[in-house]
Amino acid sequence: MSKNRFELDSERLGTVDEHGNRVYLHPEDVKGIWKDRRDIVYWILIGLYLVLPWIYINKKPALLIDIINREFTFMGSTFFGVDPILFFLIIISSIFFIAFMTSLFGRVWCGWGCPQTVFISSLFLKVESFIEGSARERRALDEAPMSAEKFFKKALKWIIFALISLHIAHTFIGYFIGPRELFHMTMGSPLEHFGIFSATMIITTIFLLDFGWFREQFCIIACPYGRMQSVIMDENSLVIAYDKKRGEPRRGTPGVLRENEGDCINCYNCVKVCPTGIDIRRGTQLECIACTNCIDACDEIMIKMKRPTGLIRYGSENELSGVPRKTITPRSMIYAAISLLFVGIFILFINKSTDLQILFLRGSETFTYIDQTVTNRFTVKFNHQGGADYKVLLKVHDPALQDKIKIITPISPIDLVSFEKKVIVFFKFSPTLLENGTKKINIDIVDKSSGNVIATKEVVLVGPVH
Ligand code: SF4
Ligand code: SF4
Repeated sequence: MSKNRFELDSERLGTVDEHGNRVYLHPEDVKGIWKDRRDIVYWILIGLYLVLPWIYINKKPALLIDIINREFTFMGSTFFGVDPILFFLIIISSIFFIAFMTSLFGRVWCGWGCPQTVFISSLFLKVESFIEGSARERRALDEAPMSAEKFFKKALKWIIFALISLHIAHTFIGYFIGPRELFHMTMGSPLEHFGIFSATMIITTIFLLDFGWFREQFCIIACPYGRMQSVIMDENSLVIAYDKKRGEPRRGTPGVLRENEGDCINCYNCVKVCPTGIDIRRGTQLECIACTNCIDACDEIMIKMKRPTGLIRYGSENELSGVPRKTITPRSMIYAAISLLFVGIFILFINKSTDLQILFLRGSETFTYIDQTVTNRFTVKFNHQGGADYKVLLKVHDPALQDKIKIITPISPIDLVSFEKKVIVFFKFSPTLLENGTKKINIDIVDKSSGNVIATKEVVLVGPVH
């Protein structure tokens, strides 16, 4: 039998009762130096999240992931989604960078940067405790039968949660369509932009349920990063840990005299403040999101008891068992080396590429077939990253095909003085050119003044299958 609700059963999580039902957590508020530091970081992150889409560099939002047009804009530079190698390099180097950081600093991301932790701690829990009171009062309210007061408090809380979720979701959508576009859409009827409206509502609902209700369950059962950490970390990784040597035997251990007890007075404050409902005194656990709440809670007790702080602290397994911690380990070096390797390849690619990016987007109508002639329509997007102005011509690369494929552009040469240009291009050819209805060709983009080929792009022509 458990002595109290905070003395957790060794056989199950603190968020599950003996019948397998969820135990809804009410973590107590915490005060301390780590909480203050995290609050500063959280509010900077929230500010950045809300403001970043509204900052314009080179007439583009600082960060824009334009899925429809397959463009990625970051700090004034735009990359096209057809550069899969660049995306692969960014993703793979980021994965190894995260692995490097995790091997050194454990789950620092979960505690200090994850939107789940940031939004729940800074907004949702704050609103909840403002309306429903302290952890004890919130628990009592949950356990009480429905009353007018309970209904009012719960309704008010969920209305405010919904408003916050709406705002977070709108900002999120702004990263994909641009804030100005989003602003215009929100001013109009939802029916005019039903797709975006539906996506915003779905995302709002996900945020609302996750941050308002699902909470620590996401970290415990759904987060893939949480599952990976045990593979990435080792005995030198920095974790939040209880100093067993100093704390044990804890107060109340049967058969131990008071003078022989360790520093842990068994107050359970570290458990009461834990947002994932674990007892860190049982060692490093998968559920620990390294939020530092238990450090502050325990330090407060240690100060009251006139004992040194740091019974729970940042440390490595090695350090806590008396072995000096190695900051740099072969494992972390391998992660860093692989990450840097891919960053290096990325920089090499960027330097080798021209300041002009070109994307051929097929028109909605695949092809037309009139009078024995096939026509393919493309929108060609030129993204001019600065530097020289271009006047360009489009030319079929293969001399043997130049007479067989006619390229029609509304203007020729195409003048690329603006930052971005879209041009409709038609390719006209005989169906006899096709093999099984398709033909891959290369198109040269030629600088008119020098005659140099700036870039060559592959285009797939399509037509009827005979
Ligand atoms: S054990 Fe401590 S650091 Fe880990 S989640 Fe709980 S309170 Fe946060
Ligand atoms: S807060 Fe500190 S003293 Fe209290 S139970 Fe946890 S480890 Fe022991």
